[in-house]
This record gives sequence, structure tokens and C-alpha cells, in this order.
Amino acid sequence: MKPESLLTCPVCGYAQMLKMPTDACQWYYSCPGCKTLLKPKPGDCCVFCSYGSVPCPPMQEARSREGQEKQ
Ligand SMILES: [Zn+2]
Repeated sequence: MKPESLLTCPVCGYAQMLKMPTDACQWYYSCPGCKTLLKPKPGDCCVFCSYGSVPCPPMQEARSREGQEKQ
């Protein structure tokens, strides 16, 4: 499981490597580049799932479990 995600701002393109909390979802993220307060897209549980290179840990776990069931 990857604990870090490269979060890219959809407004200005500013990307930052962030450490994700493993036990909670981060709903809001304030972009250091343009100060936009990012929120998850509809259907996503947190900003990492919407804008990160890696989804949040609970989602990574769910996806890997899903993959195992299909195999
Ligand atoms: Zn930005």
C-alpha cells in the first residue's frame, strides 16, 4: 500500500507529494499554488481519490480486495 499520493491541483496544476492519513479520509485540501479549496468529486471519498496519483489507503485496500475476487 502506498502511503503517499501526488496531489495535482486541477485549477493551477500545482502538484505536491502528500502523506495520507491511513485511518481517515481527507475531504479538503487547500492548494498552496492558487489557494483554491479542493473538495472531492461526486462519488469520491476524498481529495486523494479525485486528484491524487494514488487513491486513499481505504480505497486502495478495497480495490485490491476487489481485484483478488475477480481473479
Ligand atoms: Zn491550485
